[in-house]
Amino acid sequence: MKKSRKKSSSVAQTSTGNTMIDIVKEQVKTLMDSGQISAFLGLKEKQGSVFPFLYKSVQDLDEGFSLGDLEKPGQARYPIAKLLMRIVKSDAETSYGALFRGCDERAWNELLRWNQVNSPQRVFKVGIACPSELAQKHECRKPFPDEYVAGEKVDPVENISVQEVMGKDLGARLEYWMGEFDRCIKCYGCRNVCPVCFCNVCTLEQDSLIKTGDIPPENPMFHLTRAVHMAGRCIDCNLCTEACPSDIPLRILYKRVAEIISDEFGYVTGEIAAGKSPLNILGSDPGHTAAND
Ligand code: SF4
Ligand code: SF4
Repeated sequence: MKKSRKKSSSVAQTSTGNTMIDIVKEQVKTLMDSGQISAFLGLKEKQGSVFPFLYKSVQDLDEGFSLGDLEKPGQARYPIAKLLMRIVKSDAETSYGALFRGCDERAWNELLRWNQVNSPQRVFKVGIACPSELAQKHECRKPFPDEYVAGEKVDPVENISVQEVMGKDLGARLEYWMGEFDRCIKCYGCRNVCPVCFCNVCTLEQDSLIKTGDIPPENPMFHLTRAVHMAGRCIDCNLCTEACPSDIPLRILYKRVAEIISDEFGYVTGEIAAGKSPLNILGSDPGHTAAND
């Protein structure tokens, strides 16, 4: 007998009888009809697969519009902010809308702080809050964007995985990471999916540092190089861990690096705030917080 599909969060009804997906679609239609946006970057489901899709008309929305939930909330997620950045960069005129979860908003904010987006006023966020199940899965520090049209705000989730690794002594920690990194097949999936990996020339492909063609990559050089590049950037979306075919818990490492940057410089990634990342400043010392005194 065919197994029936579990009801995903996007088709679960709200107290007003509308589903999340209806609410989001309605908001996008309103933005398009009013001329505020010309296209919407969201997700589309076709033949059981979900992928990013640029909807260019209201009629398009009636075919396969998806929030990526499938059988579990947030089962299909993509680096929407990075894709949007590329679209906006390639077109100086058009206004776009985009589907933003809390992590997409953090990524977008970080791209703005790294000067990767010139005219953010051309972007309209259509936010959705993530359900508890998804927030728990990713130990999400803010499972909702600042403004959202659908979903209910749930509490941030405590960061247990970093604490567990940091609970090991130094030798055990080194052994743990070397063992994890040993499984790397250097597919670059972690880099490619990362919403805040935006360099045109990637250090991970520079022969002088990481020899191209070598598989597996030199351990731990490949991973520590990437971790250093994620300092002051990683917005804690967990996409890299999800994408890794070798199940390496990469986000734990980057999350720890983000904690260090926050303690040392008071810089919290993904927030709308004045000021650049301390690692994006050439010249005088950006200063330290009391944590480093
Ligand atoms: S969790 Fe991974 S994919 Fe997400 S921002 Fe950090 S390094 Fe990039
Ligand atoms: S996604 Fe995993 S296997 Fe691929 S390069 Fe990154 S760490 Fe290595």
